[in-house]
Amino acid sequence: MSEILDLAIVGGGPAGLTAGLYASRGGLKNVVMFEKSVFGGQITKSSEIENYPGVVEVVTGLELMEKWPEQAARFGVKQEFAGVKRVSKTDTLFDVELEDGTLLKAKSVIVCTGSNPKKSGVDGEDEFYGRGVSFCATCDGFFYRNKEVAILGGGDAALEEALFLTNICKKVYIVHRRDEFRASPATVQRVNKNDKIELVLNSTVKKIYGDVSGVNGLIVVDKEGNERDLQVPGIFVFVGMKVNNEVLLQNDGSFLCEMSKGGEVIVDINMHTSVAGLFAAGDIRAEAAKQVVCAAGDGALAAIEAIKYLETLH
Ligand code: FAD
Ligand code: NAP
Repeated sequence: MSEILDLAIVGGGPAGLTAGLYASRGGLKNVVMFEKSVFGGQITKSSEIENYPGVVEVVTGLELMEKWPEQAARFGVKQEFAGVKRVSKTDTLFDVELEDGTLLKAKSVIVCTGSNPKKSGVDGEDEFYGRGVSFCATCDGFFYRNKEVAILGGGDAALEEALFLTNICKKVYIVHRRDEFRASPATVQRVNKNDKIELVLNSTVKKIYGDVSGVNGLIVVDKEGNERDLQVPGIFVFVGMKVNNEVLLQNDGSFLCEMSKGGEVIVDINMHTSVAGLFAAGDIRAEAAKQVVCAAGDGALAAIEAIKYLETLH
């Protein structure tokens, strides 16, 4: 791969896969998409999707994404299992440095690195990660069959995954620091109707405790300072997402392009960043709606714009 790429796509989630499809189907010959983990992105960890247009039945994230890489590959985009360490620009070309040290040149780049779960910072979260503390209900829910579990958070992810866990577990506590949820009203309504869910509101987690075999429970504290011991072997943390912007960080500590205060890439309405030839799409960009359909739309638009940009170089 020593030739100059027309387009490098960093990340193979909904945004990256759609960018790959549109770029290669739009006539670009030398397009490579780099994915360091799972083609399909973070949605592959979700247990239920019911809001992707045209997909009427409720499907898992893995089912939704299963065919996307195959469809993109049909038009010629190369899909590489590799992490990108850094994207930088010298003159008109981009340097794409892979985590294994390989250095590639590209005429244009679309960054679609998405986001990852945030940690809550609760005492015991790190100590018991993988031993009772999880960030993925689809992956780990089965370990708690017919047992009680707790969920931390009050957004769409927390409530939807709580509903999923009620199919497996005896009881699900949702521990949330306020008495109002950030999740959509329809999801809140389903949660309120589910008698396997107990809401522990206006409460924070003081600590997660356990022993060598794993988690034994968590201590929650309400606004009045009353403590409660929830004796559960499993705790699922869904307290939001943090964007993966490290690939744009330069050696001098600055970012390659203009970023928001929250570390997201600022783009215009056509997914152009402040650097010519560099585009961003999906959850990584500022003001993203953080939906699969929106990430896919961003990816399509970024690819269309990358094609136009490459035409200006001729
Ligand atoms: P991502 O899906 O995050 O994909 C980014 C990809 O880039 C990842 O595969 C990552 O491994 C890769 N990557 C990152 N850094 C690098 C690097 N340096 N080198 C190479 N590869 C890299 N949305 C909905 O519309 N409906 C839902 O029901 C829904 N449910 C959700 C449930 C959960 C539990 C979660 C966490 C999210 C949910 N979402 C849902 C949101 C949706 O998953 C995201 O909005 C969407 O996946 C964003 O797509 P993306 O391509 O921008 O990023
Ligand atoms: P989110 O919407 O940011 O919600 C995070 C929740 O965690 C909030 O309720 C927040 O409380 C709480 N929280 C944050 N930090 C905390 C901490 N340190 N300790 C305790 N609680 C903490 O995150 P998300 O649910 O992961 O969703 C991320 C994005 O993906 C959203 O835009 C969401 O709409 C989208 N998404 C969509 C779907 C869907 O379309 N069906 C499904 C999942 C996710 P406060 O409310 O008090 O701030």
